[in-house]
Amino acid sequence: MTEKLYYKNPYQKVFSAHVLKCENKKGHWQVVLDRTAFYPEGGGQPADIGVLDLANVTDVQAYGDEIVHTTDRPLNAGSAVMGGVNWEYRFRLMQQHTGEHIVSGIANRLYGVDNVGFHMGEKNMTVDWNGRLKNDQLRLIERLANEAVYRNLPVSAEFPPPEKLNGMNYRSKKELAGRIRIVTIPGYDMCACCGTHVAFTGEIGAIKLLTSQNYKGGTRVTLACGAQAMEDFELKQQNVMAVSSLLSAKPEEIANSVSHLVEDNERLKHELSETRGHLLKLKADVFEKGCGNISVFEKSLLPDDMRKYALMLAERGGGVAAVFCGADGGYRYAMADSSNDVRPIGKKLDAEFSGRGGGSKELFQGSVKGKQSGLEHFFQQLSRI
Ligand SMILES: [Zn+2]
Repeated sequence: MTEKLYYKNPYQKVFSAHVLKCENKKGHWQVVLDRTAFYPEGGGQPADIGVLDLANVTDVQAYGDEIVHTTDRPLNAGSAVMGGVNWEYRFRLMQQHTGEHIVSGIANRLYGVDNVGFHMGEKNMTVDWNGRLKNDQLRLIERLANEAVYRNLPVSAEFPPPEKLNGMNYRSKKELAGRIRIVTIPGYDMCACCGTHVAFTGEIGAIKLLTSQNYKGGTRVTLACGAQAMEDFELKQQNVMAVSSLLSAKPEEIANSVSHLVEDNERLKHELSETRGHLLKLKADVFEKGCGNISVFEKSLLPDDMRKYALMLAERGGGVAAVFCGADGGYRYAMADSSNDVRPIGKKLDAEFSGRGGGSKELFQGSVKGKQSGLEHFFQQLSRI
């Protein structure tokens, strides 16, 4: 049995212990101590990392009453070791975990939803509630949660005796057996939990609900607490300031400015498309009306313009028209026929020039390999058919 120092004092960063066992397992070592401040993965909280003497602790798991540390080098069974928990990492988890209690506690009391899924990540955490919550409800939860932070309330954890436990109205994700640990934040939450938490809610710093989405009939919320919330704020601020500078707009006005920019862009795209259409019409009008088959070579045209141009040329010439775009070696093409099904000619072109294409009776498009001279010859031959 390993003595759990993280329950007696979740703020213990350094400790001494004796090595009870050390076994090699697939290139790592599995170390059991008589006592530990390393929290093993559980209750949605990731395992602690840190050091045991010169060995790095990369994972910690609980198997019954035994806590197993995974290390990158062996430790001598029976020897005394010093342990150090990576405190920056752990404290972030404590901020998140306690923040989640407050948020889920409020959501449960106000709207009756239960926390049915929970994941702590590097940048944020997700919480799944088994009911749909609207944006204004989420904003209220966030505001009340931060009030709990400002009030700097004590966070307590205890293993109540069964007779006391029976009278307690606590949240729990599943049916629990054995000794049950109850974490209480007065006025906000009472929950069965095996994790580590801050001693006072003020240490959470800030709670920010970032996104929400419908998930399995309920709501999945992404939130950041404490250091994570500050990092998220910093990232967003950098982006807002960059956009503000690019648009020469005040930070609070950038959404409005971007909206105007999007409208302008749509209008310009429409105008440009019309102008390109006029230009293609002028180019098509250069050919004599009723001149027959036409093939043209362009350096670059948008696919949509190639199609439009081929249709215009076919109508102008009264025969087959092909627009090639590219350079010797590889061309994209669009081909149209004013009166007959264009597909047989398209397939013949593909067959002769290692091409790939497809289309309708009116318009065929694809790509071919070959030279301009060869393609032009193909069309001259076509004229004689
Ligand atoms: Zn907890």
